[in-house]
Amino acid sequence: MADFTLRDANEVPGRYYRTPKELWGFQLPAVRGNPKVIARKVLTANALRLGLNGVLGTIRPRRIIQSLGAWHVIFSQHYLGRYIHRAYVTVHMDGAGHRVYLIKNRAVPRDLLPESDAVTVGMRQAREKALRSIHRGSGLVKTVTHEEVWYPVRTRLHLAHKFRFHRRSPAEDWIVYVDAGTGNVLLAYDNLAQAAGRASVFDPNPVVALGAWEPLLDERGRPVSRPPIEAYRDVRLPDVSNAGTLDGARVSTRLTKDRVRRPSLDFRCKSHQRGFEEVMVFHHIDRAVRYVESLGYRGRRAIFTQPIAVNARATRDDNSWYSPATRSLGFGTGDVDDAEDGETILHEFGHALQDAICPDFGQSAEAAAMGEGFGDYFAASFFADRKATRRRVLLNAVMTWDGILCPDATNANGAPCVRRVDRPLTYESFDHAPNADEHDNGEIWSSTLWEVWNALGRALADRIIFESHFQLDGFTTFAKGARAICDADRNLYRGAHLRTLRRIFNRRGIGPVD
Ligand SMILES: [Zn+2]
Repeated sequence: MADFTLRDANEVPGRYYRTPKELWGFQLPAVRGNPKVIARKVLTANALRLGLNGVLGTIRPRRIIQSLGAWHVIFSQHYLGRYIHRAYVTVHMDGAGHRVYLIKNRAVPRDLLPESDAVTVGMRQAREKALRSIHRGSGLVKTVTHEEVWYPVRTRLHLAHKFRFHRRSPAEDWIVYVDAGTGNVLLAYDNLAQAAGRASVFDPNPVVALGAWEPLLDERGRPVSRPPIEAYRDVRLPDVSNAGTLDGARVSTRLTKDRVRRPSLDFRCKSHQRGFEEVMVFHHIDRAVRYVESLGYRGRRAIFTQPIAVNARATRDDNSWYSPATRSLGFGTGDVDDAEDGETILHEFGHALQDAICPDFGQSAEAAAMGEGFGDYFAASFFADRKATRRRVLLNAVMTWDGILCPDATNANGAPCVRRVDRPLTYESFDHAPNADEHDNGEIWSSTLWEVWNALGRALADRIIFESHFQLDGFTTFAKGARAICDADRNLYRGAHLRTLRRIFNRRGIGPVD
């Protein structure tokens, strides 16, 4: 029979158990046979050295993994009918000769196993404690599993209740351990929404990144399908699901067919590759919601209480939308994919923001135009600092990549774009015809808001304009919207900017505002 006794092994000592945590650098003979059986024999032959005396019976094989060149036998430890959290032994052997070359050991030694497994705090009481520890808002929580386990704290094993909870919104997967002796919560963590992913995106779009649209058109005047590398920017996705899908606390692309899944959380890809639109939508909306939160709309003032659901490839048409019925966003892939332009994404996000504050916004012609104008304003405001250093001609245009095939009819030197926010329009030019386009009418409102932005600066203008929505309704008018902006200035800044605001609204023929 082969001699499996370890000699001359390197050792990493354990911190709490005074047993070796890791042994390697030894020579054991090659043998034939089942890896599980070999592993067991090696552990038995070295039980004293590993501190496994008297606990070999508590160790059960859980998994055997065959990698390209080796076998890995994984044991977990069970005691009085419950498994011990994080207590394991692993044995690693080469694939050709079954020569064991590494042993890792986190088994709890005999003298540290408790005498008693008495439960003082029952399951129901523990569950209440656990739920209280993860309480946030009113989202419904489902108990997925419950089991009793041993939970080590330094050298002591605590009998504990282990719960898995799932909350749909915000999406959370909790694991909570509650001490069955004291009722204390030993550990609670959310499996979702913890990890940071990587991505490369257009920020907001290739035209802004390059400061020019000319190089993005080919000889036939069509947008190039592969924008140059300078058009991309590497970003962190601070909050994606560990499952490798684009699900976060603020946005989820779950409505997209054939979603990307990257367990490594590395979502980098180019715009012609599958998944790019999803990544764009996720990044830009996540960041926009965080910005809104940073202005003070968080906690009990939070505007969004669940992730915004998105379909990043919703239609082949050149069209995108916000659906108030399902509170979700859809992006079209006609011409330039809408979700390839961060400004188009934020325009749509603007609708979601308004609807979250003021449900069913935009039911009258004026309210609808204000909806379109606000989305354009928000996109222009959000990305203004990206454009300031480039060509100023881009500063007052929005969706210059989405609209690269739309020359500016009113200005020969202007950038092609979907819309501008600096039109010299007044309320007089509002088209009240039943078939009027709310986007055209919206330019009156966006240009007015943009004037406020230029007069007050981004931080003040955004706060006052966001805040004004709380007193509006779905059938509102330009005049009421302007008054709400003045009220917001009174409430936030004691009316410090009223003179400026009134002057702007008067000049635009919007009001009266007094
Ligand atoms: Zn719109």
